[in-house]
Amino acid sequence: MSIVAGCDVGSLTTKAVIIKNKRVMDSAIIRSGPKPAESAAKVMEKLFDQTGISQKEIACCVGTGYGRGKIPFIDHAVSEISCHGKGAQWLVPTARTIIDIGGQDCKVIKLDKQGNLLKFVTNDKCASGTGRFLDVMAKVMNMEVSDLGRLSAKSSAPVIFASVCTVWAQADVIKHINSRRPAEDICAGINTAMANRVSMLANTLKIENDLCITGGVAKNDGVVKALAKILGCRIKRIKRTDPQLTGAVGAALFAQERQQALFNNPNRRYL
Ligand code: ADP
Repeated sequence: MSIVAGCDVGSLTTKAVIIKNKRVMDSAIIRSGPKPAESAAKVMEKLFDQTGISQKEIACCVGTGYGRGKIPFIDHAVSEISCHGKGAQWLVPTARTIIDIGGQDCKVIKLDKQGNLLKFVTNDKCASGTGRFLDVMAKVMNMEVSDLGRLSAKSSAPVIFASVCTVWAQADVIKHINSRRPAEDICAGINTAMANRVSMLANTLKIENDLCITGGVAKNDGVVKALAKILGCRIKRIKRTDPQLTGAVGAALFAQERQQALFNNPNRRYL
């Protein structure tokens, strides 16, 4: 059985996944550098080191993410919207609505029962409602972004932010730190402000169950729980793999489909 790969060059992180025998064999995540081609090469190198697989053994590699147009070794490029839809539906077959929250944008994607893309909306104009908002707030709090969810779970009285604007919310966080509000209440307030912003975008499309969250922010339990509460619906968690890898998984699945189509009809060069 062939080995295929997906490579997702995002604004903050670069992810890669190898699928062998229709299963995720291994994955890697690194921080994106300024040059997408270098980030993509680095993450694949890491994956080859981890697995012992060589570039030659990859039958097909699909690229996605904002840097997909600059990856020299891929066979094909597919949009993040399609890859997140594809990946999420494979990981959670009942998924109909996907909210992808990455480092610099947020997307809400609707799929039909077959996993075909129906509609999508994005916010890539403003940091609030993206991972960047959380990264900035974690820095002001002098903690890792991965601590925001863990700490907020301990809160009984989340602070309320006057504004979801990153600049104003930052000033609010400093004010709350200085008035000695417990860190867990500030973290819970940050996660809720983020969830409020995302819910505004999500509500522009009619959410259909099951709802799934993908992207790095899906690892923040505080945001996921706050979002479920605000939207009034259950969020189905991705458990089969790290939700941050969903786009790369989708890309690898597109690679698998292309490979299968080529196998079925060797005279056909492209899908
Ligand atoms: P992109 O694809 O745009 O590069 P990602 O999907 O990788 O973005 O998401 C990056 C965001 O995920 C970061 O801005 C951060 O807020 C969040 N994030 C990453 N790792 C974690 C973690 N372990 N816990 C909570 N949040 C995380």
